[in-house]
Amino acid sequence: MNKKTIAIIGGGYAGIHAIKSIQKKVSKQEQFRLVLIDPRPSHVRKVLMFKPAVNEVDITVPWEKLFPESVEIIEGAVTDINHQTKTIFYRNNRQETGILPYEFAVVAVGSVIQQASPEQGGISLSNSEAAMEIRNRWQSDLRRALQLSDSVERKRLMTITVVGAGISGVETSASLAEQMKQYAQDIGLQPNNIRVHLINSKERLFIEGNKRMSAKLEDLLTSMGVNVLHNTKAVQEKDGEVLLTTGEKISSGLCVWTIGLIPNPVLASWSLPITENGRIKVDESYRVIGKAGIYSIGDCTRIVDPRNGAEDTMTCKEATMQGKRLSKVILADFYKRKAPVHKKTIATYCFGIGEKKGLVWIRFLKMNVILSGKLGLYIRKLTWDMASLLK
Ligand SMILES: Cc1cc2nc3c(=O)[nH]c(=O)nc-3n(C[C@H](O)[C@H](O)[C@H](O)COP(=O)(O)OP(=O)(O)OC[C@H]3O[C@@H](n4cnc5c(N)ncnc54)[C@H](O)[C@@H]3O)c2cc1C
Repeated sequence: MNKKTIAIIGGGYAGIHAIKSIQKKVSKQEQFRLVLIDPRPSHVRKVLMFKPAVNEVDITVPWEKLFPESVEIIEGAVTDINHQTKTIFYRNNRQETGILPYEFAVVAVGSVIQQASPEQGGISLSNSEAAMEIRNRWQSDLRRALQLSDSVERKRLMTITVVGAGISGVETSASLAEQMKQYAQDIGLQPNNIRVHLINSKERLFIEGNKRMSAKLEDLLTSMGVNVLHNTKAVQEKDGEVLLTTGEKISSGLCVWTIGLIPNPVLASWSLPITENGRIKVDESYRVIGKAGIYSIGDCTRIVDPRNGAEDTMTCKEATMQGKRLSKVILADFYKRKAPVHKKTIATYCFGIGEKKGLVWIRFLKMNVILSGKLGLYIRKLTWDMASLLK
């Protein structure tokens, strides 16, 4: 049988859930060939990016483990798609170009982590290599601090400033505080002298949720030894000092930037319609506007709930839900049936606060449900694993 190719471009959370969901629905009919194209040799568990900044840990899952059968993998970066000829253009890791004909193409190239400019100093937590650089830096700073008799310089080396207080900044600062204290104790420094500052540009943490959740989050961070500064931004890190917009300077051994995500800039050179801020334009069933046969989901896509106009944000949860729904859309389009439309999911946010604490906030039927303690941590870990198809 001449199988129709469904090409998934990008094996992040959106892409892998789309594949899994298509596999579940079409495995018996065997009319489709599934091809995943991604420049990386494995799925990166992006939400765990803070982990290699504090411990030696692998946050990748090889494609073969996720898809032991019936998914072809092309390790390459897509450079464009032509919907008229139904071809995808890519460059593989040996810099050779290739062309893949398809019946359906799914764009799920995600987002990239925003980086501070080189003049702003510090290190942006932008990928696993940057995370390892951060870990090496604070560990060597603490070892240097141990040799010093100058108490001012020792204090500086035992201080880190994390700039940006979204989920990533909150989880990074909590883990740094926890692990730096442990490391300090192990090498003979006083753990209580570790300082972690978290710079928040808003008036409170987690502005998406209610005030009670913000307060709980801040209490937890404070209990870990994180000092949160609100209503201020960092300008730059220079000569061991982080300068804030308030004029205040924080003497720090290291400045770590966690300042958010932007849609994958690679899309600017593709022939797909994008919004002013770089997200692909789709209809209510993830079909790219004016490009029949091409769909787009995840961080790289502007997706709106047609019932209330609410736009999906760049979160893992939304990306995975879109991936699951997309399989139904593609099959409906193939069999010329009515396709499902996008629906915003219940607002849920999970925070891991160090190794032992978690906090979950769910907005349900106008109620704010907060789960903390062991249950919060259990749900946090479960969502991390489910997102990467490990549960
Ligand atoms: C540090 C950090 C912490 C986060 N924490 C949370 C959290 O706690 N909860 C939450 O809900 N969200 C969190 N997020 C956001 C979440 O990670 C994203 O919303 C999610 O990764 C989006 O999934 P995606 O599949 O759209 O894109 P991505 O995960 O970005 O995946 C995109 C994939 O496309 C591939 N790709 C890129 N370019 C090409 C190309 N040219 N050709 C082919 N493939 C390509 C990439 O290699 C990658 O595999 C966090 C993000 C970061 C950075």
